[in-house]
Amino acid sequence: MKRDSSAPKTRLVGEAAGLDARALTRLRVLNCIRNMEDASRTDIAAALKLSPATVTFVTSGLMAGGLIEELSSPSAPDTAKRGRPRVALRLSKGAFHVAGIKISRQEMSILILDFGGREVAQLITKLPEPCMEPLVMVQTIRQGVTEACAQFNVSIDRLAGISIGLAGQIDSARNFVHWSSSLTERSVDLGALLAAHIPCAAFVENDANLVAKAEQLFGKARGLNNFLVVTVEFGVGLGIVLDGHLHRGERGCGAELGHTKVSLHGPECQCGQKGCLEAYVGTHGLLNRGRQIADGAQINSVRDLVQRANQGNAEAALVLEEAGQMFALGLSNLINLFDPESIIVSGAEHRIAHLHTETVFDQIRNSVVKVDAPLPEIQVHHGDDLMWARGAAAMGIELVSALKVKELA
Ligand SMILES: [Zn+2]
Repeated sequence: MKRDSSAPKTRLVGEAAGLDARALTRLRVLNCIRNMEDASRTDIAAALKLSPATVTFVTSGLMAGGLIEELSSPSAPDTAKRGRPRVALRLSKGAFHVAGIKISRQEMSILILDFGGREVAQLITKLPEPCMEPLVMVQTIRQGVTEACAQFNVSIDRLAGISIGLAGQIDSARNFVHWSSSLTERSVDLGALLAAHIPCAAFVENDANLVAKAEQLFGKARGLNNFLVVTVEFGVGLGIVLDGHLHRGERGCGAELGHTKVSLHGPECQCGQKGCLEAYVGTHGLLNRGRQIADGAQINSVRDLVQRANQGNAEAALVLEEAGQMFALGLSNLINLFDPESIIVSGAEHRIAHLHTETVFDQIRNSVVKVDAPLPEIQVHHGDDLMWARGAAAMGIELVSALKVKELA
């Protein structure tokens, strides 16, 4: 099938952003300054294997663009320059601000970070409905971001970018949503709607990819190059990081762990198919199954189901046990496919406690291909509600940085 090459590309990093060699060097230097505390030009040249002249040229461009600033420290002479004051470089933290947004089932979480990654405002607000028309979603985002900006007395017009995390199949290269459980329509050009209603650059990304980003930058995957993040909430998501980079698939439809099939005649999934992993494991599927066995009891949350099981209801216990068994199949399939350094299972504690028991880990050990080497590390991260928004904001800073160095050309 031929792809539409004329589609607008608004989701941009590095080469994908159409950066030329000079802009890419600027971006590398900028990222180096972000990663190294108070780096001097000599430090940067050594770290990136660039000539001192190139670093001087690039950093003067970044300073002229207001992205970095000098910090003189007479007490720490630059050894390469014989006693001249060492001049450190750091990001101009106030250069711009970015909003990271996560659309959940009931709520929207918003974090506003400055260019240095410092949090300046946060807001968690109720959504009008879990599944929205596209225009309603964009208007809700605009209203939420406007309120969050008001917390630090800044207009939404001053934001350099907003980065939005949604569950579903999303082609982030063109802000196109193939399908999301948060939208009433399929095949939505969300980028066009955002461009019409949001006065800054906007990026849309699969939410599990954003959690992977947050784990890589701030969490349990720091220093790792090959890892997987499995998110469990309403559905089951997957973020794949290979050689340090997110792997999204050709159409942006990859990594749909929740919709991989674990049963031939399983329960119906919210995607319309049968036998999907998340129809057993995700909150949506778990509660559907729980309600079928509830014999009149109210099952409105995973907590209710766990309580029924703890009260001795064998059917409730079976639903939870099956969720654990199916989850073990899902994780062992991932290990057999990717052989990652680590798998991070991310979700609220009350949603996933039954998914990381010794029984589940035993089943994983029994289902992976046997080799004379330890299993990849499986880590559990009970992230807070803002974890997703934090990943979205981190991604937003990365993307806006690419746009800013492009503008300096
Ligand atoms: Zn499905």
